[in-house]
Amino acid sequence: MKYNWSIIGHSKQLSVIESDILNENLFHAYLLAGPNSVGKNTVAKKMAGILQCSNDFCHACPICSQVEKGGHLDTIEMIDDKESIKIDDVRKIIERCNMTRQANYKIFLIQTIERMTVDAANSFLKMLEEPPERTIFILTTNNIRAVLPTIISRVRVMNFAAVSAGYLEKKLRELYPDHDEDIIKKVSLFSFGKTGKAVNLMENPEELANYIKIYNEVMFFLQYRNVADRFSYVNNLAEDEGKIETFVSILSNVLRSKILDGENAEEHIETVLKIDEAMTLIKKNVNLKLVLENLMLSLK
Ligand SMILES: [Zn+2]
Repeated sequence: MKYNWSIIGHSKQLSVIESDILNENLFHAYLLAGPNSVGKNTVAKKMAGILQCSNDFCHACPICSQVEKGGHLDTIEMIDDKESIKIDDVRKIIERCNMTRQANYKIFLIQTIERMTVDAANSFLKMLEEPPERTIFILTTNNIRAVLPTIISRVRVMNFAAVSAGYLEKKLRELYPDHDEDIIKKVSLFSFGKTGKAVNLMENPEELANYIKIYNEVMFFLQYRNVADRFSYVNNLAEDEGKIETFVSILSNVLRSKILDGENAEEHIETVLKIDEAMTLIKKNVNLKLVLENLMLSLK
């Protein structure tokens, strides 16, 4: 690898991007697709840095630091704020596209492109087809099936998958030789092959401590055998919305890893599917307590 991407895995995808850059064979638009927290947004941003820095992506010049901090004039970011991207937002993108460029490139980083409404996407298509010279769109999606085929056909799609637990642990050991094995194993469990999440946890001791605390609760919780105890637990949990997603995701990962170990696999698969359903409902703001209680009823 020529550039320092500071990311775990994805070497095949990164070398494709590098060769596009080094051979000056860039596409108008890239779509980095894959589950959340596998490092797509990090790659998007690093790619912008490589293209904008005149000093070979030095990590030391003002341009590198402006791109990094999101303050670079010709590197426009649309961070996922959970709102949909509407036609007015696309108009603004088009306006920015047509403004004079000062840097090497004009780059648009648009996160979770599936947020775009159909109207917005249709007006975005024209720009995507024939952008001004040296304009590059770097888009990401967590769900490529939700992206319009007309968009997909106009971009270079790069797939980013989660990596295996074994590979992730090996890499974490290399990157963080001072951390003990228990931490590495836990981070691997919490992130389940999502490399971006793993690095984030390793770099944020407070966040990691919080995960470990909730993990201990999950292990304790799994020992509850009667529904009344579980209900009283989720009633407390429902008061603390920030905690729910972490709790549910750790619970799901613990069960998934049991499945991989072949422990009560069928029973756990059923539960994991129900957890996934519950997660979807929670994200849709369906009554939390109700979702959690139904989930508790389905636990074996
Ligand atoms: Zn630089």
